Amino acid sequence: MLRRFQQYIDGEFCNGSSTFDSINPATGNTWATMPAASEQDVDRAVRAADRAFNAPEWAGLTASQRGKLLHRLAELIEQEAGNLAELETADTGKIIRETRSQISYVAEYYRYYAGLADKIQGAHLSVDKQDMEAYLRREPIGVVAAIVPWNSQLFLSAVKVAPALAAGCTIVLKASEDGPAPLLEFARLVHKAGIPAGVVNILTGFGADCGRALTSHPLVSRIAFTGGPETARHIVHNSAANLAYTTLELGGKSPVLVFDDVDIDSAVNTVVAGIFAASGQSCVAGSRLLVQRSIRDRFLAKLVAKAESIHIGNPTDMSTQMGPLATRRQLDTIEAVVARSIDAGAVVMTGGKQPAGMTDGFYYTPTILDCPGPSIPSVMEELFGPVLSVVTFDTEDEAVVLANGTDYGLAAGVFTRDLTRAHRLIKKLRSGIVWVNTYRAVSPMMPFGGYKLSGLGREGGLESVLDYTRTKSVWIRTSDEPIDDPFVMR
Ligand code: NAD
Repeated sequence: MLRRFQQYIDGEFCNGSSTFDSINPATGNTWATMPAASEQDVDRAVRAADRAFNAPEWAGLTASQRGKLLHRLAELIEQEAGNLAELETADTGKIIRETRSQISYVAEYYRYYAGLADKIQGAHLSVDKQDMEAYLRREPIGVVAAIVPWNSQLFLSAVKVAPALAAGCTIVLKASEDGPAPLLEFARLVHKAGIPAGVVNILTGFGADCGRALTSHPLVSRIAFTGGPETARHIVHNSAANLAYTTLELGGKSPVLVFDDVDIDSAVNTVVAGIFAASGQSCVAGSRLLVQRSIRDRFLAKLVAKAESIHIGNPTDMSTQMGPLATRRQLDTIEAVVARSIDAGAVVMTGGKQPAGMTDGFYYTPTILDCPGPSIPSVMEELFGPVLSVVTFDTEDEAVVLANGTDYGLAAGVFTRDLTRAHRLIKKLRSGIVWVNTYRAVSPMMPFGGYKLSGLGREGGLESVLDYTRTKSVWIRTSDEPIDDPFVMR
């Protein structure tokens, strides 16, 4: 029995103009059909969001009332985390252990922004004019177009939906065409929470029509995008039509720098989790290991042993440690980049193939490539898969040059016990996040985003809610004295 999902527009569940099949990556079989939104569907959703933006059911709420709705949504996410996790696992192949814990944590993002809704403040300004009051109002920016990629869609949409609603915006959220099931199901929670019709609209479809129509729509005032840099260029081009304020969360090729003073076992465990969690399909995957020559052989021996001990299997099984990749396309890309890297001189230390007897699903073994330098394709290109490229360095300066030597700058990890070195590196690394002696820690309280081709703007944290507002400068003359006729000379 195929599951059939619907889109959510103007408070109603409805079919798309057409449908497409969704494949379970663990089996390679179709398990559900999804609605594909046409340009007309997008237009209907944006118009609904625009109406809702001004309607008293939403615009008339106090900020505290918006916060209460977000709290209610957080509760529902927590209650439904098990169901949402199963859907995400079925649709993306991400292991159930990860989807359960990540979705429970998504509720915390809604709570955080629920609490901020009534703390958004304007300002009173002292201007250099007599008899004048001047103040700034903070107003919601308008209709938000949010677009997410296929990995962690509930999580990546929470950092857009929650601050947007806290600020008083309305939103049209486009799920990825790959793995949209959990977001389409999330629409039921939005409905149940009592969020007024049209405030949150959720649809899915393909980038070239649905995504383009959404990001170029004249009624959209704000675009929040997560995905790859190539798509981001299209988004920026699309936004030339509406000149919407745009934030971009993009890819990464994040380095993990390991110095010879570390506790090797702890660093090995963290490096393994940094690259092989979610089968490497994470924007912050620590996909480049830069290791100091003096500990290289000891470190790599332990790392390879750990990678080879990872239990690959059915993602619905709680004992599975690594599941399949999300799509056949993803598997093909990874195989192609690994082959080019080997041709260019990389040596496979472990992995580099599909696991024996598991070729029906999109599985790929944890792979470690020993790379002679940055000219190897896997060192420079984002693979979005379980492939770790290792480059050896001798000095701290050399490590910094290697770390900063890609077009990306999302995150970096530093492993050292030397506090002064850690501080030096934090300053020198060109990335939006630096983790020291840890990796992949995230929190609603902490901004997230990249340098260079990894993005524009930040999500998460206090300021991100202000990114869904704009200021209005208000001038009030306080004198009752008559105003002089400007055309009478005195
Ligand atoms: P993608 O860029 O191919 O697609 C992302 C979304 O954009 C999808 O919903 C897609 O339908 C839509 N899209 C495609 N073409 C479009 C167009 N012309 N106009 C409007 N929308 C369009 O990315 P993907 O392959 O789904 O995801 C992987 C990428 O996402 C990786 O590069 C990864 O690093 C990045 N990512 C970044 C973060 C972050 O927070 N920095 C988080 C997760 C993933």
